Amino acid sequence: MTELRSVEKSVKVKREVLEVSSELMSLMGQFLRQKGFIEILPVIISPITDPLNHSVFNASIEYYDGQYSLTKSMIFHKQLAMRIHPKIFSFSPNVRLETQEKRKSGRHLIEFTQLDLEMRGATREDVMLLVEEMLAHTFAMVKEKFESFLKDANPHFSIPKTPFKHVKYLEALKEYGDEFESVLSEQALEPFWLIDIPIDEREFYDKLDDNEKTLKDMDLMYPYGFNEASSGGEREFEYEQIIDRMKHKGNDFESMKWYLEEVKKGIPSSAGCGIGIERLTRFICNLSSVEEARLFAKVPGELSI
Ligand code: AMP
Ligand code: MG
Repeated sequence: MTELRSVEKSVKVKREVLEVSSELMSLMGQFLRQKGFIEILPVIISPITDPLNHSVFNASIEYYDGQYSLTKSMIFHKQLAMRIHPKIFSFSPNVRLETQEKRKSGRHLIEFTQLDLEMRGATREDVMLLVEEMLAHTFAMVKEKFESFLKDANPHFSIPKTPFKHVKYLEALKEYGDEFESVLSEQALEPFWLIDIPIDEREFYDKLDDNEKTLKDMDLMYPYGFNEASSGGEREFEYEQIIDRMKHKGNDFESMKWYLEEVKKGIPSSAGCGIGIERLTRFICNLSSVEEARLFAKVPGELSI
């Protein structure tokens, strides 16, 4: 049986780290509001959630004769929200019951928070520019406020230089082999975008490019070996295309029926992304693991308070 972690282990987070994390959520929220975004409340349970591209343990709740899933990401709700408002964001709690091997990565928790944003009618490039500007601004403000802490905690802290470099997924794979993401992240001194991810590496909702092989999506990568910061892209929004992509991927249609009914009625085109708050805090504070980036962190393979 899994043991409960001690409270000391569960809360091995420094006060300054919590202050940085709190500040950067506030700064990013302010930045987005100034750009015309509104914050929507997160969805915690729903009959539909992100099927993800990797398997995790089931996290659902029986309710009368139905079932709710705990949110793995708010992707579908963001698409539906586009009907009401053109620019939205949410600090969205995600539960993904990852297997215990994931713990070694230093990047995985089973409960984490994404700053999840979406823009109606936008392109991937619009989202990349927005995120670059948001991070440059946020890092500059955090540097000013936490100068002495960061000097000690993170010798390579710097305000990212925009625009970020674009690296094509297939070219990087060819040059550096299967571990290219880690290799490139370790070599890098600045954040960079990984773009044009092959269709089988991501979910059905990422928009297929005209070449029918790669997606109009992107991952943001941190330098100094901190690896993936964010994933996002343009979304599929047309019913026929979504059905084709679900068939291609082998997705379960029954569990997606509520979503498909809404897509049939029509949803707007959009683009967006999700940025992990614990990973951003870890990167800024130069922490060895996301466990140290939030209070009451839930690490894969353990129970904690
Ligand atoms: P995804 O769309 O699955 O790439 O998730 C979006 C972002 O959420 C990632 O780029 C990470 O920053 C963050 N994230 C995803 N999974 C985890 C996890 N298990 N623990 C912490 N952060 C995560
Ligand atoms: Mg990702």
